[in-house]
Amino acid sequence: MDGWMDEPPERPLGKVQCHVPPGSGMTTKIIHFMVNGRLEQAEFSADCSAADVKDLFRAAAEAGPHHILKMYNANGSVVNISPRLEANSEESYYRLEVVASDLRSVAMPPELDNMEYRLHHLESRVTEDVGKTPDIISGLKSHVESFKRKLEFHSPHCQSAEHLSWMGLFKADGDQQLSKFCPKPKTPQLSVQEERQQVRRKFLNMSSLQVTEEVREHLKTPIFDNWQWEEAEMLVLLQVMYTDLDFLTAFHIEPEVLQNFLFEVYCHYNNIPFHNFQHCFCVTQMMYGLIWLTDLRNKLGRVDLLIMLTSALCHDLDHPGYNNVYQINAQTDLALRYNDISPLENHHCAVAFGILSKPECNILKNLTGEQYKHIRGGMIKCILATDMARHYEILNKFKLMQPVFDFTNQDHKEVLMKIMVKVSDISNEARPMAVAEPWLDCLLQEFFNQSDTEKLKGLPVAPFMDRDKVSKPSSQTSFIRFVLLPLFSELTKLFPCLEQHILEPVRRALEYYSDMERASKDEEGPAKA
Ligand code: 5GP
Ligand code: MN
Repeated sequence: MDGWMDEPPERPLGKVQCHVPPGSGMTTKIIHFMVNGRLEQAEFSADCSAADVKDLFRAAAEAGPHHILKMYNANGSVVNISPRLEANSEESYYRLEVVASDLRSVAMPPELDNMEYRLHHLESRVTEDVGKTPDIISGLKSHVESFKRKLEFHSPHCQSAEHLSWMGLFKADGDQQLSKFCPKPKTPQLSVQEERQQVRRKFLNMSSLQVTEEVREHLKTPIFDNWQWEEAEMLVLLQVMYTDLDFLTAFHIEPEVLQNFLFEVYCHYNNIPFHNFQHCFCVTQMMYGLIWLTDLRNKLGRVDLLIMLTSALCHDLDHPGYNNVYQINAQTDLALRYNDISPLENHHCAVAFGILSKPECNILKNLTGEQYKHIRGGMIKCILATDMARHYEILNKFKLMQPVFDFTNQDHKEVLMKIMVKVSDISNEARPMAVAEPWLDCLLQEFFNQSDTEKLKGLPVAPFMDRDKVSKPSSQTSFIRFVLLPLFSELTKLFPCLEQHILEPVRRALEYYSDMERASKDEEGPAKA
């Protein structure tokens, strides 16, 4: 066995197989595909599980568990990686791409991935020989696990001195320690710029005309799955939203200007666990869906729709991953600049108008001064309304208007627009569970980053952000009961059709997390007794 731990065992190049019992007579499928510049062949039987087939291609692409894989057919369309994948010939091979690392996770150092892999292999070998996992291996595994967990709760954006110093890899440098809005400076890396340029090239090479009618329709619903799309594609989908709401014709927006604007917006979202470009996309997509579902095109002016969609798009620009309470307690530059009054939302809005101040990005440049002023005023109101500290103030106003709501009343319209942006902003739980749950992991990851920093700096820590006090179910049951249901029910009173689209999924999510909460309490129960 000497030396076997040095290298992970290799699989024969060019061919991967999901277990097919020899002589079983079971029909096997042969799939030809190109990955990393190599033509490969996969073989599996029709009754292979979907997970096994995915694992098979994951192994072929040498992808880790957090990579997103995409398979394209010979026509360039994305196909589902499943046992139902159509068999093909060598000439009509599929193309398998590792699109990106799942943004919900943080890349592990290769040594750690490698160590985990070797441990896993050692465990299988020893279990084969001895029949059970020896304690020493279980101990090692839990060490690697806990090490990974510690790393996972630090985003690359804010990888802190503390985190690196306990690994013995970093010596804190006084000057470098604290930056403006985020406790640690973001050192712009060339690779980030390169990555953005790649996204830009891909985005510009695609045309919104390529987006099929089916996708366009799906984009109008809250069941749209953001995790299926890469950044350049999301930019195209945003372009589709502006196009299909007729904004280009109504406001004389040149397509290149819209593309420049969207790309700049993308560049101004940070690579942080939750408040990133994916969140911006989801909020904008939910707003777009709500506009269609409630038939707002026939109830509000086109300019109001432009205000709402653009506010959703810009509402978290340059979010540093640390909330207003942190900004104020840590007396950051943002809190100083905005006198502790919604520092983040003021900043998001200022960044938005900074982007629009560049003529090549100014989608409002062909409007009259009056129109520009109106849109600017509307966006400021909508973006500032996303400060959750103002949640009850805005909801109560809307509640009072509800019985006499009038779409021609300017005050009523303004409150409704704020409510629509707010609903979109916190609408993850209105999405299918498979889409929503990873978002909660992202949110908690960002919360824990903040509370860890607060603990280190001796600042107050909110219990809902504290990794020692909060769990996924506890976080969601109260948020759904006290924030989502009252807000969504109020909007549903005005638009009853939203019941099935946003209220019912949120009620299901409450049941799901309540069950989870009960189960974890039951587990604790006997142990404590
Ligand atoms: P945002 O910061 O995205 O503009 O405002 C929304 C805020 O509402 C988030 O920062 C977060 O504090 C809270 N929030 C949004 N969605 C959820 C959720 O699903 N669960 C919990 N617990 N809080 C949420
Ligand atoms: Mn947001």
